[in-house]
Amino acid sequence: MPSVLKGHYWEYGMTRRILVVDDVAANRIVMKVKLRQAYFDVLQADTSEDALAIAQQLKPDLIILDMGMTDADGVNLCERLKAEPATAHIPVILVTTLNDQASKIRGLRMGADDFLTKPVDELTLLARVRSLLRAGEAQRLLSARDEACAGRGMSDPAATFHGPANIATVTTSHSKPDHWTSTLSRHLRDRISILTCDEALAAVELPDRLMPDIFIIPVDLVERNDGLRLLADLRSRGHRCSAQTIILLPEGDTERAAMALDLGAGDILYHPLDRDELVLRVAHQLRRKRQTDRLEASVQEGLEMAVTDSLTGLHNRRYAMHHLEKMGQSGAGLTVMMLDLDHFKQINDRFGHASGDKVLAAIARRLSAHTQNTDLLARIGGEEFLLAFNGANRAIAFDIGERLRHAVGAEPIQLSAGGPQIRVTLSVGIALTQGQTNSAEALLEQADRALYRAKAEGRNAVTMFAA
Ligand code: GH3
Ligand code: MG
Ligand code: MG
Repeated sequence: MPSVLKGHYWEYGMTRRILVVDDVAANRIVMKVKLRQAYFDVLQADTSEDALAIAQQLKPDLIILDMGMTDADGVNLCERLKAEPATAHIPVILVTTLNDQASKIRGLRMGADDFLTKPVDELTLLARVRSLLRAGEAQRLLSARDEACAGRGMSDPAATFHGPANIATVTTSHSKPDHWTSTLSRHLRDRISILTCDEALAAVELPDRLMPDIFIIPVDLVERNDGLRLLADLRSRGHRCSAQTIILLPEGDTERAAMALDLGAGDILYHPLDRDELVLRVAHQLRRKRQTDRLEASVQEGLEMAVTDSLTGLHNRRYAMHHLEKMGQSGAGLTVMMLDLDHFKQINDRFGHASGDKVLAAIARRLSAHTQNTDLLARIGGEEFLLAFNGANRAIAFDIGERLRHAVGAEPIQLSAGGPQIRVTLSVGIALTQGQTNSAEALLEQADRALYRAKAEGRNAVTMFAA
């Protein structure tokens, strides 16, 4: 175990851990004091071997790495961290003594997330740390999800091909775009558009395909701080806008850099702009944007998976019970039908379980075709379905039950050309609101009892609950 000087906070589970790598003890202590004051927990390493070991074993949330270590080049260490799957997602800040542009570019190429110049300005340090921790969270969730998917043998649906990105640069007027805009268009494959403040805000309402992926915004536009105001406006539309933002600042304006980061800017850049740095940082933000998009897509997918029955595409039992409860509370009356396939076990026995599954899916399609979109149709058990809708009219309910019984049983199911004709029939039990009886749970139980009677009386039948 390498020499780890562990702080006290992370053992409680909530505090974020930052690994400070520097071979000069005094530098580590200065950094540690600043970070501890902001309630971060600090791990320390004084050689690159220690740093690698600690990063792998203790998985810090962020690494602050001195470039001037005697035992190794900080950039190389950064490269090794980024090459290792266990540590690749941990954001890295490189600390330089001078504003050494060549090392900076090299570091960015190796996957460093940012740079700080000694003496480290506390305001920028903490703002930058917070911003990277926020971004790291998305990455952490995504890795966790990927691991869970891999564990269940599921493919990664979100790893899709990406076309060119939309990059919007914001200016005061179309007539005089900044020279760096043309620099970008010469060095990136992506689409670059030049927008005014108002156009940038309007762009957030565009369909996803057309919405900018990245906004590059000078901190001052017509008025001082216009860029920060625009940033705040864009962020407040967060539900629509997962775009990343890069704020351009006058040289040395660390105070407003910290403000921009705390307002949610993905990155900041100082004038005079270095072409390579600009291009690399845009590429970095683009990767982050795509991670965020992937995460959102997977959350959406997860939500759908939680309410859908994968065999038939109908709602699942969990969703159905929750929704039925709500329908019962609407006061509009409720009809509940339990639909159960007759002797389905024999279908499996004769044709095999896999064919049985296909028959279930085919029956679900028939049921869907004969019900309305506003109805609740769900598969709530193996060969058991539920239909519910608001409104309670006995004659109509009975007609619908008969219609579904016909839809299932009138024509045999043929799974493949030349394959066997599989006959399946359906029994239906119906209950509906009468007087005060409006509880979904009570109706469900009554429908079940009616179904039991349909089965008992010979199956392939529709039965209304009678007290
Ligand atoms: P009944 O007319 O009394 O409803 O007879 P049944 O055979 O349909 O009813 P039972 O409840 O005794 O058995 C249900 C059968 O449905 C058991 C199982 O073979 C089959 N089954 C349940 N879930 C699935 C499934 O997901 N796929 C397939 N292929 N078969 C299923
Ligand atoms: Mg059955
Ligand atoms: Mg059954």
